[in-house]
Amino acid sequence: MQSFKGLNIKESVLSVLSENGYSNPSPVQQSVIPSALRGESVLAQSPTGSGKTHAYLIPILCRIDTKLPRLQAVIVAPTRELARQVYDFAMPFAKADSSLRVRLFSGNNNREADEEGLGPNSQPHIAIGTPGRLLDLFSSGLLNPKEVKTAVLDEADMLLDMGFFEEASAILALFSNPQVLVFSATLKEHLKSALAKYVKADLRYEGGEIKTASEVSHHLVDVRHRERAAAAAELLRIKRPYFAIVFVNKKEEAAQVALRIRESGFGVVSYTGDLSERERRKTMRMIRENRYQVVVASDLLSRGIDLPDVDLVVSTDVPSDLDFYYHRAGRTGRFGKNGDSYVLYDMGEEQRAKALYEAGVPFDMLTIKGGQLVHDPKGLGIHKGQKRQAYEDDEKREIAIAKARHSGKSVKPGYRKKAKLAVEKVKRKYRRKAISKAIRKNLSRKK
Ligand code: AMP
Repeated sequence: MQSFKGLNIKESVLSVLSENGYSNPSPVQQSVIPSALRGESVLAQSPTGSGKTHAYLIPILCRIDTKLPRLQAVIVAPTRELARQVYDFAMPFAKADSSLRVRLFSGNNNREADEEGLGPNSQPHIAIGTPGRLLDLFSSGLLNPKEVKTAVLDEADMLLDMGFFEEASAILALFSNPQVLVFSATLKEHLKSALAKYVKADLRYEGGEIKTASEVSHHLVDVRHRERAAAAAELLRIKRPYFAIVFVNKKEEAAQVALRIRESGFGVVSYTGDLSERERRKTMRMIRENRYQVVVASDLLSRGIDLPDVDLVVSTDVPSDLDFYYHRAGRTGRFGKNGDSYVLYDMGEEQRAKALYEAGVPFDMLTIKGGQLVHDPKGLGIHKGQKRQAYEDDEKREIAIAKARHSGKSVKPGYRKKAKLAVEKVKRKYRRKAISKAIRKNLSRKK
C-alpha cells in the first residue's frame, strides 16, 4: 500500500497526519490527492467515512500560500453540522501552522460573529460554510472571491436534494477558472447534469456502487404486536452495543423512545431538529466524548456526520426511501469496522419494508422471541428465489410500456440495451419522485 509520503505532500501537513494516526491514504485519497495537487478538477463518488474530507483538505493545504492574506479555498457543505465537522478536521493543521487561517461560516444564527474580523486585508485562507451564509458574505463584499483557486462541493447530492444547488453554483460562478472538487455519496445522472456546467472534471473517481460499507449487516425485525419503543429497548438489551444510534422517522417520537431506552438502563440522549444550534453543538460534543451509549436521532444525524465507533443502527420504523435507509445504515461499518443495521417493522409497514428489500438491501428476516433475536421464516412473506415484484402499479405499467416500445417483432440491433435504458429511466423517475416526496416531507417536519 502506498504511504502518504509518496504523494508529494508538504512536510508540515505530513507531520499532522502522522500525529493524528493516519499512516496510509484511503483509496479515495490515493486517487484524488495527486490529481488535486496538480490543480485538476475532480468529481468523486465517495461516501462519508471513506476519508473524503482529507482527500480534498490535504491538497488544499499544500497549495495554499499562507503568506498571501487572501481567501484561496472555499468549502461548501449542506448543513451546519457537516461544515463544522470539516472545520474540526482542518483545525489540527491550523494549530500546527500559525500562519494558516481557517474560518467556519455556518451561521450559528449569529451573523455578526461571522462578519467579525473580515476586511480587505484580513481574509481567511480557507472558508468553510453552508451555501446561504457563504453567498451572503460574498455578496456583501466581506469575503473576496478574486484569489480563490479551489472550490469544494461536499456532499453534493445532499446540496442538490436540499435545494441548495442554485446557491452553491452561484458561489462557483464568482471564481475565475477555479479548480472544483466535488464529493458526493452518489453520482446520479441528475447530479452529473446539474454539475456539467460548472465542473470539467479531469478525474472521475467512483468509489463503488454500494453506499454502505460491506461490513454492515442488514436485518429486518418483525416486532409483531410490540410497541416500537419497547422493541428498540429490547433489541439494545439483546445486542449490548458499544455505541448505537436509534433513528425515528418523526422527531416527536424521539422523547418517548429515549425514555423507554433509559428505563432499560442505557445512557441515552436525543438529537433532533428540535434542538437549538447551541444545544446541538453541546450534544454532539458530549456524544463524541463517549458520554452516551445510545443516541435517539432523526434523519438530521443520518447524513454525513462522522461518528467512528457506531456498531449498531436501529430504525424504529421503516425509512421512507432507499437513500434515507442507506444514509442511516452508513453511520456504522465505517473505515473497515463491522456494524449491524436493524429495521423494525410491523404489518402496517410491510409494503415499505418489502420495497427496501426489493430495491436490493440484503436483509435477513428476524423477530424477537423469548428475549432473543430469532430467524423469521415468514418474514415479509418473501422466500428465497421468489421473483421480486414491482410494487407500484404505475411504475409497473410504465415499465411494461417501455419494454414493449423497444422490443416487438422486428428486432433491431441494440434493442436489448435500448429497452434496458428505457426501463432504467422509468425506475429513476419513480425513485426521484419518492426521494423528492420524502425530502419535502422531512423538511416540512423540521420547520
Ligand atoms: P470522511 O467522512 O469520508 O471524511 O471520513 C472521515 C473519517 O475517516 C474520520 O474518522 C477520519 O478520522 C478518518 N480518516 C480519514 N482519512 C484517514 C486515513 N488516511 N487513515 C485513517 N483514518 C482516516
